[in-house]
Amino acid sequence: MSSTDVLNPATEEVITRLELADVAETDRVIEASARALGPWRRTSPADRARLLRRFAAVVDEHVEELAQLEVRNAGHAVGNARWEAGNVRDVLNYYAGAPERPGGETIPVDGGIAMTVAEPLGVIGVIVPWNFPMPIAGWAFGPALAAGNTVVLKPAELTPLTALRLAELALEAGIPEGVLQVLPGQGSVVGERFVTHPLVRKVVFTGSTAIGKRVMAGCAEQVKRVTLELGGKNANIVFADADLDAAAAATPGGAFDNAGQDCCARSRLLVQADVLDDFLARLEPAVQGFVCGDPADEGTGMGPLISAAQRDRVAGYVDGADVLIRGSAPTGPGFWQAPTVLRTTSEHDPAFTEEIFGPVISVLPFTDEADALRIANDTDYGLSGSIWTRDVGRALRVARGLEAGNLAVNSMSAVRYNTPFGGFKQSGLGRELGPHALDAFTETKTIFIATGE
Ligand code: NAD
Repeated sequence: MSSTDVLNPATEEVITRLELADVAETDRVIEASARALGPWRRTSPADRARLLRRFAAVVDEHVEELAQLEVRNAGHAVGNARWEAGNVRDVLNYYAGAPERPGGETIPVDGGIAMTVAEPLGVIGVIVPWNFPMPIAGWAFGPALAAGNTVVLKPAELTPLTALRLAELALEAGIPEGVLQVLPGQGSVVGERFVTHPLVRKVVFTGSTAIGKRVMAGCAEQVKRVTLELGGKNANIVFADADLDAAAAATPGGAFDNAGQDCCARSRLLVQADVLDDFLARLEPAVQGFVCGDPADEGTGMGPLISAAQRDRVAGYVDGADVLIRGSAPTGPGFWQAPTVLRTTSEHDPAFTEEIFGPVISVLPFTDEADALRIANDTDYGLSGSIWTRDVGRALRVARGLEAGNLAVNSMSAVRYNTPFGGFKQSGLGRELGPHALDAFTETKTIFIATGE
């Protein structure tokens, strides 16, 4: 076993020191999960639903505590952190409806009746990144548990605290021992073991595209099921006919929320050339007004970056670049980076093409609809995006033309627990959330019954 210091990214103070699991400990936890599987899948649908609702209720009672923990461990603005804890509750409530809903079909066939049943997969290994520790955990364990699977979850090394607390709350709610276990550890140790251990029947991985490819390749060895939620470099497309005030007011939140450490951040700003200057004039006060500061303050829009390494990485894109607008950020301890808007001269500029995962927007003008689509789709990513226009036909044409999984018209909305979420191209594989998420945690079994006709 090794250990790690868990830091507060706004102060650089050590919150706690945590043991990291080794392979032997990971194996013990996976085996405990496999032992819990039989009783959990045999728990009656009504009881499983009741337990998930109770888990949701216990999370609800602890929303403020969980939010404050995330403020300290991840530097999330407190308003966002409350939403994130509430999202775990909502996801649990949503999927608590599943165990008692019909999950199969009967199909007319010769000589009898065929039916399908949805069987749980078994032990699910969930690997979570540091940017949204609570929601990303809940999007996997909510539907996975509802479908009768057990879960072992590895939080990111930097942000394990809320996941550990959620596992305690699950026990408090009466979810049986071993059904949801949280195991802090390194990706190369615990995460890799989820990939290689034969008792883990599926890996749900959220994180970088580079590691996601590696996880997918490793899972191929056992034809292990995999869901991947990976990176994004998302376009925010503003047409000349848009409500420019509304678009400019929403643009900072769409890119700087969670200090830009958001796979759905709209970090590529495409503005129709005729209105570029008008739009930037409106954007400047909106960026200046986006408060970067103490995440515990109610008025804060964004807190610090997660680590010194992340701050240095982001600074590498900003230092020496052509800065159009720069907001402000605290100085002193903490991993701060001010909200920044860069002018882009080339579509191949790394700041315009690479996922920065920081509060940085790159602006590029476009000429017409076809030009906007060409630029927006010229990326290996395809996660989200926004379209600003008053022309309904254009909004739908562009939305249909964009190669991305989650689009918003005249809005920055990206994630709702009741709609599917996931990426095109190298932004991911499979979908989470929404009415069909159970399919990702079950196998379809066909049973034929001869009736002797
Ligand atoms: P990362 O890929 O470095 O790490 C993600 C997780 O994978 C961590 O828990 C890490 O410990 C683990 N890991 C590392 N190496 C591993 C290995 N060899 N085998 C198994 N697991 C391993 O990503 P990150 O820096 O923590 O997160 C940022 C990335 O996550 C960004 O690219 C972002 O876009 C992406 N992300 C995507 C979504 C989405 O839904 N599409 C959501 C949030 C974040």
